Amino acid sequence: MSRAPIRITQFGLVNTYLVLEDDGVTLIDAGMPGLERRILTTVQRTGLPLKRIALTHAHDDHIGAVDALMAARPDLELLVGENDVALLAARGCRATPTRTLRGGDHVGSLTVIDTPGHSPGHVAFLDKRDGTLYAGDTFVNVPDLHVASVLSAIFPLPTLGTHDLGQTTRTASTLLDVPARWLALGHGRPLSDPTPSMRRAVVDAESDREPSALTRAVATLTSRLMGMGNAAVAGKAG
Ligand SMILES: [Zn+2]
Repeated sequence: MSRAPIRITQFGLVNTYLVLEDDGVTLIDAGMPGLERRILTTVQRTGLPLKRIALTHAHDDHIGAVDALMAARPDLELLVGENDVALLAARGCRATPTRTLRGGDHVGSLTVIDTPGHSPGHVAFLDKRDGTLYAGDTFVNVPDLHVASVLSAIFPLPTLGTHDLGQTTRTASTLLDVPARWLALGHGRPLSDPTPSMRRAVVDAESDREPSALTRAVATLTSRLMGMGNAAVAGKAG
């Protein structure tokens, strides 16, 4: 079994990852604001320079430290899926991407996979050296593995923030064909040999099981508190 992905966790819930390359470190996602100090300290321990930030998508809990890191390291590259460029600016990120990504592109040892649904330009990254699939928020591992289109009473936010629930389920199903040895997500612990668990999660998402009354109630409350839309609460739209 290859080594577990190098993860920095914020508030016990939000993950970013370091990918070591010959020319430096690729940071996958940038957490919530304030994470920059821990990122820079952790990168420093690798003995390699921070080279680039590659975003799975442009939601607030994945872009928080981007502007601070770009200010601290003006030569950093910033990469985002081409269909999330507008979202990145709309979420208040001042930095401009230095490169936009689409499926089949390469970022060091990482291959880009188009995974639209959770956001319009959501992408995943497969490290072909060790089989780690950095899948962003298409799957969520809190409290256990599920597709982001399936509402969880314990952690409803990824579902409430999902752009297109049906497309997210379809995208999750395409990821079953990826020869992943590790699944590294935006939320929850990385999983080794993840494909059987991913398959169960996709089957569950594809079933028309409606969320329980309790799950709906929690999600409705959360979405009101957060001022979010509640398509996920109303049912499996899209
Ligand atoms: Zn997220």
